[in-house]
Amino acid sequence: MAPPAPPPARPKLPPIARAALLLDMDGTLLDIAPTPEAVVVPPDLIASLRALRARLDGALAVISGRPVEQVEALLPDTAPAIAGAAPAMPKLDGACYNTVAPGYSFSLSGIYQPKDDIFAEIEGSGFTSPLDAPREMRMREAEQAQSWYKAITVETFG
Ligand SMILES: [Mg+2]
Repeated sequence: MAPPAPPPARPKLPPIARAALLLDMDGTLLDIAPTPEAVVVPPDLIASLRALRARLDGALAVISGRPVEQVEALLPDTAPAIAGAAPAMPKLDGACYNTVAPGYSFSLSGIYQPKDDIFAEIEGSGFTSPLDAPREMRMREAEQAQSWYKAITVETFG
């Protein structure tokens, strides 16, 4: 009698710094609800996705058949990339980071849409780091700044 076959080898995953996650929203991140509007975002999901985004150096995407605006509204500031139904109008997200020391950054950002032949800031979308922001926020902004820097240098220099 032949010995039992060894279990199939599990695929080796890349180190998390070289990985990217593309996560389905409805039925994966969120439980299916009777109607799309009735979904419930678990209380710790947003913080978990933000922490995951930082560990992945921003390589996190959410995939959905919903309009992008709905995904952004349900999972705010979690995934730098969202694949969903096209928004009614294109939006551009501009952010600027200033790192003054390791783990200590400030940021400015705004979201813009075409209006009267220019890109106008969407009312209320602008953000500036408050001067009295807690240390955790400075560290989170430093992580995002580092992630952004890595992304553009890899894009530019390979
Ligand atoms: Mg799904």
